[in-house]
Amino acid sequence: MRWENLATGSEHSRADAALFGAEAVTTRTFDTPEFRGITFHEIRARSIVNRVPGASRMPFEWTVNPYRGCTHACVYCFARKTHSYLDLDTGLGFDSQIVVKVNAPGLLRRQLASRRWQGEHIAMGTNVDCYQRAEGRYRLMPGILAALRDHANPFSILTKGTLVLRDLELLKQAAEVTDVGISVSVGFTDERLWRTVEPGAPAPERRLEVVRTLAAHGVGCGVLMAPVIPFLSDGPDQLRATVRAIATAGATSVTPLVLHLRPGAREWFMSWLGRHHPHLVNRYERLYAEGAYAPKWYQRRITRQVHDLAREYGIGPTRAGTPRRAGTPGPAGAPVSEPTQLTLV
Ligand code: SF4
Repeated sequence: MRWENLATGSEHSRADAALFGAEAVTTRTFDTPEFRGITFHEIRARSIVNRVPGASRMPFEWTVNPYRGCTHACVYCFARKTHSYLDLDTGLGFDSQIVVKVNAPGLLRRQLASRRWQGEHIAMGTNVDCYQRAEGRYRLMPGILAALRDHANPFSILTKGTLVLRDLELLKQAAEVTDVGISVSVGFTDERLWRTVEPGAPAPERRLEVVRTLAAHGVGCGVLMAPVIPFLSDGPDQLRATVRAIATAGATSVTPLVLHLRPGAREWFMSWLGRHHPHLVNRYERLYAEGAYAPKWYQRRITRQVHDLAREYGIGPTRAGTPRRAGTPGPAGAPVSEPTQLTLV
């Protein structure tokens, strides 16, 4: 499907959406400050529970993603590449051309009821953020959570969105009948860095407020400390400030994850780096010379430092493979002592 064939800005234009396996597309814009410049492509998906390709590397096998593209606009977002599969731009297009699977709740309910479904764990927020700004308007997650609750199907959510608190009651209800894991992603607490590298996401302090609020309601929440950005958020004082803030917020665990730069994200990030921190470009080219990941020695060093700080501030390490009821980490539930290369929000 060619997206330029859609009349962007029109209220109701339709086109074949074969590429999504969807039935129809409606392209919509909203003239409100929070959605200015953003185009929503509403589709009726044919399937909503997806198997993770190469799931052996992941702590989960099944995902649900009601959106594609993300207005949180993190420069380093690994999911940028997936927009190219839709013939959409992986840079600004990823931030502003949002695909919305408007039938996600009903479809999930049907798929969970299928005799073929075995009730496995479902991870959400593993590709793009299910609590990005669009969710405030489309309200897909309440129906999704209600379906998971009604089928007592275990699940986890990873998010940077404060909107998750809107669904607190549903999360609590689900946690009474199944394993629920919630993790918030906070890689650093530096506000200046946040404004340029995660320009559409809530501020780190607001995300930590989510952790605090969940804890106050008896719902445990882990923090995926991701990404730790080499030379920009990896100083000893910066790591300490971040882990201290995470601990103070009442997180049940902290899992560090060093920046990785896959194709799609790499070009966008490096162009941002050239504009904002040109003196670091050569150092990055050396650090990521072998590919998408920083060297193992670097990852181990960061993990060790965060692990030590976590112990110092009294955040318990996580045991991999433990059941993920609310109160324990979600998809990022790897032990803090292990370098991890999960592809998460
Ligand atoms: S990293 Fe997560 S929150 Fe940021 S743009 Fe990507 S999907 Fe959205």
